Amino acid sequence: MAMHQHDSKEFGVEDLVLLSTIDTPSIVNNLQLRLSKSRIYTYIGEVLIALNPYRDLPIYEKDTITLYRGRAIYERPPHVFAIADAAYTSMQRFGTDSCIVISGESGAGKTETSKIIMKYLAAITNTAQQREVERVKTVLLRSNCVLEAMGCAKTNRNDNSSRFGKYMHINFNHGGDPIGGSINEYLLEKSRVVRQQAGERNFHIFYQMLAGLPDDRLKELGLTKSPAHYRYLNQGDSSSVPTLNDKNLMTEVQQALKAIHSFNDDITNQIWSILAGILHLGNLSFIDIDSTEGGSSVKERATLAAAAKMLALSEKELAEALCGKTVAAAGDIVSKLHSSSEAEYTRDAMAKSIYERLFSKIVALINDSILIANGENPNLETEQCHRSASVIGVLDIYGFEIFGTNSFEQLCINYCNEKLQQLFITLVLKQEQEEYMREGITWMHIDYFNNQIICDMIESPKKGILAILDEACASIGKVTDTVFLKELDKAFGGHKHYSSRGVNLSDKTLKHEQFRITHYAGDVTYNVEGFMDKNRDTLYLDIKRSLYHSKHGLLSSLFQDGAKSRAEVGRRPPTAGFLFKQSMSALATQLASKQPFYIRCIKPNDEKSARSFDKERVDHQVRYLGLLENVRVRRAGFAYRMEYGRFLQRYKLLCKNTWPNPRRGGPKENTQMILGEMGLVKDCEAGKTKIFIRSPQTVFALEEERAKR
Ligand code: ATP
Ligand code: MG
Repeated sequence: MAMHQHDSKEFGVEDLVLLSTIDTPSIVNNLQLRLSKSRIYTYIGEVLIALNPYRDLPIYEKDTITLYRGRAIYERPPHVFAIADAAYTSMQRFGTDSCIVISGESGAGKTETSKIIMKYLAAITNTAQQREVERVKTVLLRSNCVLEAMGCAKTNRNDNSSRFGKYMHINFNHGGDPIGGSINEYLLEKSRVVRQQAGERNFHIFYQMLAGLPDDRLKELGLTKSPAHYRYLNQGDSSSVPTLNDKNLMTEVQQALKAIHSFNDDITNQIWSILAGILHLGNLSFIDIDSTEGGSSVKERATLAAAAKMLALSEKELAEALCGKTVAAAGDIVSKLHSSSEAEYTRDAMAKSIYERLFSKIVALINDSILIANGENPNLETEQCHRSASVIGVLDIYGFEIFGTNSFEQLCINYCNEKLQQLFITLVLKQEQEEYMREGITWMHIDYFNNQIICDMIESPKKGILAILDEACASIGKVTDTVFLKELDKAFGGHKHYSSRGVNLSDKTLKHEQFRITHYAGDVTYNVEGFMDKNRDTLYLDIKRSLYHSKHGLLSSLFQDGAKSRAEVGRRPPTAGFLFKQSMSALATQLASKQPFYIRCIKPNDEKSARSFDKERVDHQVRYLGLLENVRVRRAGFAYRMEYGRFLQRYKLLCKNTWPNPRRGGPKENTQMILGEMGLVKDCEAGKTKIFIRSPQTVFALEEERAKR
């Protein structure tokens, strides 16, 4: 960190704890100065801040990899490689599992950073070129473009925005080579399948298919080349994106699928067919039947035929599933016909659930193939290789979201960020505390905002927002979103982090259907409309049943729950909120059991520009990422710590007792002699293996003195 302090006027400080003034403007200015000199990485202790440069920098090549390999974090200028190497080295040396948590808002560079980490880990492992290890690496690396095709989309913030959360973990054997791994995905934004805002696109894969499949193949799928032809693709009016070459990406996806064991041609073809089916579904519309019984019918018969063919259903089955449902009423099973708008709703629900389940299935298939590569592994040299020694996890999850209108999805995403922030607080502080204890140093407490209170407000099993929502969804009778909001008001009136018109009538910044949560990262106003529907996430049994009966093995396997008959279906399936809460709690447990490394990504501007630095936007991110608090916590104890040997190496020339000929004693004594000579002892405390220095000024003094010699 302070190694290159004499450059700080020119390049800014490499570690924010070394700033002479600790406030947000100084942090922002420092980041700006560093970015202007292409120094995109900065530390706060061991937390890495990464600025998105929005251009390719030559800092990820082989020579840079060599520079960081096997080095401690502080030995080299800040870099994501240093973090990856620290995780890897601590795993190898001490067998600790670690995780790298990457956070930041949309477009800040999380996904790129996670790819850089994977590439680094791939580059430094399997030097012996074992075939099976190579195969695991291939799956781990190449699965990424499949996941991006299926789970990323062009949004107004990011041309390649991840619309799902991803936690990938890699298992290493005792030799330090990757022998397996798996991917967990969280909450795919499935509403995008049927609806996109102006300027945005559906998931990449649809456009890639149209651009990349050969004409005769498209014909078999009943598709044309033009995205404009499909309602599910043309709403955003933004079908081609200059930074994306859909055709080439399709080739890449196809090659990746070929390289991943569990996707044979048959499965791959079924995937294209299912996706084509979704596009055809989207072009269906319905007309109300003018009769006393009501009901509706499909308008475009040819499109219905195409959709049915691609989903391997009969036209009749599909039409019936879209235009009506069977319900249990007073012991009888009766059919109920949908109006045209209900049929449209059903169509969209069908498309969304097919896509969502297909996405999960593809992740599962990728996981299978990593397992197979690992388990049935005749080529691995030793039995030992089969057993995982330790794990590195990489989390690339959606950042905090504040949109014009925020709904159930944003609540989930922001709740996830609260959880991660909570973990950050406990783990980073815990780590500090543990180090002080290990080293026998007295620790001084610092106040910071603990967001547990917000986590509780959302997740508490009895009276949290998600629980209240579940209760509303489970009640019989006409419980509307508005009723749900009233329940929230009852539960949280007077809560410091909650507001609504029901609680505070004079707050004209809120509409009647809104509530506001003061998140750790700022205020977010949520609109309750649609909350219950999204949480219930109902898919009529008729839809599930018809898809279960598809002749496509893959599609049918996605809808196993359609095998049940109406009579067998008793209990309500768990709600979306409940499932999300569960997956977050499992994730938090996973992460908490590992040594964490944090990477905080920051977006310098909203124009995707390599030149501009929007101070206000960066200021905001610095605030909500809690960087200032992070620096304070880090400084409250000791801003700076270094092993005695290394300290001596660097500063021995400052004292005649240690330079040129050391008089007596070990590194610890010598370190104290140097500090004594400089008159800096008061500011330092001697731990068992490291010297702890309280204020950065002391380090400046040492560095300044050193520069003079
Ligand atoms: P989202 O939450 O929307 O998924 P994200 O944080 O994952 O956003 P990325 O997709 O990683 O953001 O980055 C957005 C774009 O920024 C990339 O497509 C790339 O153009 C650029 N970018 C990010 N990091 C780097 C980097 N280290 N070097 C060069 N360009 C980068
Ligand atoms: Mg991303």
